Order: sequence, then C-alpha cells, then structure tokens
Amino acid sequence: MNVSFVENSNDIVFNDSGRKVKITEEIMNLFKQYRQNGKEPESGGILIGREEKNNGNLIIEYATYPMEKDIRKRYRFYRKDKGHIEYYNKIYKENNGIYAYVGEWHTHPENIPEPSLLDKKNWKKIWYQKDGGDLFNVIVGTKEIRIWKCNLKIERLY
Ligand SMILES: [Zn+2]
Repeated sequence: MNVSFVENSNDIVFNDSGRKVKITEEIMNLFKQYRQNGKEPESGGILIGREEKNNGNLIIEYATYPMEKDIRKRYRFYRKDKGHIEYYNKIYKENNGIYAYVGEWHTHPENIPEPSLLDKKNWKKIWYQKDGGDLFNVIVGTKEIRIWKCNLKIERLY
C-alpha cells in the first residue's frame, strides 16, 4: 500500500486549511471514464480515504461507481444501491478502521460543473447524518472536475 504522499502528475492535490488533500490518479481515471460526453446518464458513488497520522493530510484512495440499483438519469443520480456502503465496510474492516467515508462524487453533463439546489440539499443531509467531519464532494463535468467541502457551509476548494 502507498504510505507516502507521493504526487503523480494525474493526481489532484488541493489545500484544505493547511493540510493537503489528494485524490489519486486511479480515481481520476475512474471519473474520466464516466464523463458525460455523449448521451450517458449521470454516474456517481462514494469516496473513501485515510488521514496520514504524522501530518493530517487526507488521501482519497477508493471510490465506488454506479451499481445496479442506483437510479441514473440524464440530470440526476440517486445512490440507492447498498453495495456502495457494503464496499466501504469491507475496506474499513480489512484495514482495521483506518479508512473513512469522506464524500460523494457524481457527474454532470456540463463543462464546468456547479451543484444543483438538490445536490446541496443532499450533501447537507448526508453531512448531518454523518455526525461530524467534513465531506469532500466531487462533481465531474465534461471539461472540469470540481470539489466542494461540505460541513455547515458549502465551499469550493478545487
Ligand atoms: Zn448534481
């Protein structure tokens, strides 16, 4: 397993109040694979990461992708399949609890993505249910990938 904060050229790295957050190249490739360049419906999943003990940097290393029971429309994605959370539970157990659920991702059929009112409502709802800790929510547009930190407020970090 990758234990150091190595930056590959295709990783996304951004600052979050003094620490770094990285989304690995593998996950970036997953996002790109689901870009809505044609007539595809929206896609999405959850993000799983771990904090480095020595410096608090966050590495987002696992993500789920659309599953059978999710509802996928051209302009909507509803994460309904239990498989997303089951996958997280598996990663959590296999690694003695060092991984945490850190957010959601989904695609938009627009170049520069912006969260819809429904997205914001949904992020808030998830944050309240999660009982503390920030969420990092990604929207994959057809040209850009953008990331919002969500707690009591919603702020774009990337
Ligand atoms: Zn959306």
